[in-house]
Amino acid sequence: MRSAFPEPYGPSRPHPAIFVPPRRPRTGGPTRPAPGLTWAERRCDEVVTPPVRATLWRFVRGTAHLLHPGAATPDEPARLTGLNDRRGAGVKIGMLGTDTGRVCLVLRAHLAEPPAGPARPWRHGLGVPGVRPGAVVVSGVDQVAPADVAPLLTEEPSPHVWPWLVVRAAVRDATGTLAVDPGDGLLRPVLDFVVLPLAGPHPPGERPVRCPACDRGRVRRYAAFDLCPDCAWTATA
Ligand SMILES: [Zn+2]
Repeated sequence: MRSAFPEPYGPSRPHPAIFVPPRRPRTGGPTRPAPGLTWAERRCDEVVTPPVRATLWRFVRGTAHLLHPGAATPDEPARLTGLNDRRGAGVKIGMLGTDTGRVCLVLRAHLAEPPAGPARPWRHGLGVPGVRPGAVVVSGVDQVAPADVAPLLTEEPSPHVWPWLVVRAAVRDATGTLAVDPGDGLLRPVLDFVVLPLAGPHPPGERPVRCPACDRGRVRRYAAFDLCPDCAWTATA
């Protein structure tokens, strides 16, 4: 873990909190993408499979009291909305949220990056389970079936090993990453995200006509943030 996410922990800095989501019953199959499609042709919900979404949303529910204190996240199914589907995008932008929850998760999914650094089991850096007040980083781990992460990986995962998902977020700005260990102990980053409150003041000024980050002209204004559906640029008040 430290090799993939270098972080100067020590006596002067709080150790990251660890959140281990409850295990999901191993039933049901993932929604597999249609065969023959390239990555660019696939929809967000085809590459971010229901078990991966469930892990992300359980992480949000388990850590929302730190990321956005006071924002309720009821126990209800989260829906993923692809924001740049059918545009041939290399990075899939999606929004994960529920009917009555007060936060949403905006994600950018991409094909797995090669694992960085020397092999070192990330599990050794996890520490003690539990989400503690004052944590600067929160982490979560989960295991899913190989087919659940196959669309995100550049190699076919072993059918005999249940890959690990490792979610990690900084409390200060509620941004984080999800990485996959398909069984060799090395993390491959596949997705980054930000958790945003759905209620609150508008960002200052008018909605930008063009995205400041990618210059496309589809910026949307939500109640408490502006969001570019093409690159996931966001602005808050
Ligand atoms: Zn943009």
